[in-house]
Amino acid sequence: MPYKKFEEHNMQVTDDVKNRYKSIIEDLGENVKRDGLLKTPERAAKAMQFLTQGYHQDPIEILKSAMFKESYNEMVIVKDIELYSLCEHHMLPFFGKVHIAYIPNGHIVGLSKLPRIVDVFARRLQVQERLTEQILDCINDTLKPQGVAVVIEASHMCMMMRGVQKQNSITTTSGFRGQFEKIETRNEFLKLIGK
Ligand SMILES: [Zn+2]
Repeated sequence: MPYKKFEEHNMQVTDDVKNRYKSIIEDLGENVKRDGLLKTPERAAKAMQFLTQGYHQDPIEILKSAMFKESYNEMVIVKDIELYSLCEHHMLPFFGKVHIAYIPNGHIVGLSKLPRIVDVFARRLQVQERLTEQILDCINDTLKPQGVAVVIEASHMCMMMRGVQKQNSITTTSGFRGQFEKIETRNEFLKLIGK
């Protein structure tokens, strides 16, 4: 199957960002007219738009589009969801895994929608703490389950490549609502994701 590209770019934004990248690269001491760099400002502008496309997407609509009436009321867990985001302090990547659980309260949600809302919030300038809360609140307010839990484990390039240069540290954040505020339920979830 031929490689298909789904990226969409706003031409005006691409042009503006491209021109700014050009001067940034020059300010850093490089020659933007060098062969390998000729198309770099445009590529970088498009990449940044892709990595921040979450600003133009509505996670509530995504969840609502796949909510189904269902009487199942045991814990539903989607673990090891890949995460790629940008830290808002340095605009450097942080990446890792997200684990989400909820206990339905009359409705379940299409399982693929949970990774999708992770992407919507992750493709913005973020801090891991707020990202955790936003995923949690979005599921809690939209699906209105009996409980919801989110754990994120991530490595931050701004810590690994610069600053303290700690290559092996992983930052863990978590949030719990409803039934997961009870220690037994929370522990069951943590055990099931191997924590
Ligand atoms: Zn940072």
